[in-house]
Amino acid sequence: MKNTTYDIIMAGGGLMSCATAYYLLKADPALKVAIIEMDPTYAKNSTVLSDGNTRLQFNLKENIQISLYALEALKTFADDMAVDDVKPAINFRQQGNLFLTDEANLENARAGQAMQQSLGCDVEWWSPADVVAHFPLFSTNGIAGGAFGRLDGTMDPHAVLMAFKNKAIALGADFIEAEVSAITRTGARVSGVALASGETLISKFVLNGAGAWATGLARTAEVELPISPVMRQVFIIETEANPAETYPLTVFPSGMYLIQEHANHWMCAQSLDDDPVGFDFRTNRDTFMDRLWPDLVEYAPAFDRLKITGAWAGLYAVNTFDGNAILGEWPELQGLMLANGFSGHGFQQCHAVGRYLAELILGQTPKLDLSIFSPKRILENKPVFEGHGKLV
Ligand SMILES: Cc1cc2nc3c(=O)[nH]c(=O)nc-3n(C[C@H](O)[C@H](O)[C@H](O)COP(=O)(O)OP(=O)(O)OC[C@H]3O[C@@H](n4cnc5c(N)ncnc54)[C@H](O)[C@@H]3O)c2cc1C
Repeated sequence: MKNTTYDIIMAGGGLMSCATAYYLLKADPALKVAIIEMDPTYAKNSTVLSDGNTRLQFNLKENIQISLYALEALKTFADDMAVDDVKPAINFRQQGNLFLTDEANLENARAGQAMQQSLGCDVEWWSPADVVAHFPLFSTNGIAGGAFGRLDGTMDPHAVLMAFKNKAIALGADFIEAEVSAITRTGARVSGVALASGETLISKFVLNGAGAWATGLARTAEVELPISPVMRQVFIIETEANPAETYPLTVFPSGMYLIQEHANHWMCAQSLDDDPVGFDFRTNRDTFMDRLWPDLVEYAPAFDRLKITGAWAGLYAVNTFDGNAILGEWPELQGLMLANGFSGHGFQQCHAVGRYLAELILGQTPKLDLSIFSPKRILENKPVFEGHGKLV
């Protein structure tokens, strides 16, 4: 190990940690930064198991602003992340996102679109007839309208993680393969981390970047977070329908979504109320057959003939308090920085979160004020919902 004392330690070496390390070292190359990851193969890492989608379509102003920054950062991402002139290929496909809504959610959807437009986002409202005219595989069954964001899209999340990791290392971060067994504290101040190997590392700042494992890790420092690991399955399907159009990521009123990978290959998933809580990665194709497929055929009748060609499961770090990110210092433990609880929408937030956390650690005024997501809202019992108490 090159150092035992660091300016900041990232506990967990996933997306938020690597992005924060990058922004820190970009701002101050002299900083000593450690990134500690228990599994550098990232086999169970949520970023790698995600769908890699980014969208402007949120209701909360700050979530929209976060995604606006993501689009800006993605424009120069390959150049910014180049190491020794090798640029990462993240394959960002701006196929658009289409959020279809039923009557019950119409008001909420229109409010979201109005907020997006007030921030200059290119999001159009479509009638059910417009939806079918653009994408003839869909029916108007149960649809009251839809919002189409043409700048939204999907990319390779593994490539984005590797890009931040490799760049942070190139800028001087120590990447350490180890399990953090505890975040240590001296009174009301963080003092570093203990590793499962028995070693200890010292730092005034520790970032909890443990993703779906964040609650257990925070508990070692006597901090209780409202975050649960919840399994989310994604099914890969092949259909007889082979449309001429490129389809957007489409979210149906039930919450089920469909992503066209290419031609007649699609991914389909939905958060269900009884998704297993815990560290369970076993897929069950019956879930698709019995729960998702009937709805899918309602919304897209040509999907009545298909085959499941694969499936995988990853973990959402569900913020059970309000479904939004928890960002910043824990008010009762100085130096414990949190980038946690992203639920189902953290991948796209890595750019703004990495920059914001770095600014907070460096004592700078944040370029984008994300204090609405401060952990103090948990202690004050003031949840910040996307709309209608929805967890996203
Ligand atoms: C199926 C699925 C689809 C998704 N789709 C999207 C999407 O389309 N768009 C979107 O924005 N978001 C999506 N998400 C959510 C997104 O993946 C997450 O919000 C985001 O990737 C979280 O990043 P993170 O850095 O917090 O966690 P991770 O990237 O999971 O990193 C946490 C890391 O910490 C390590 N770790 C944990 N504990 C320890 C320890 N004690 N010691 C050392 N290392 C430790 C883990 O091994 C892991 O590598 C999806 C998630 C899933 C599961």
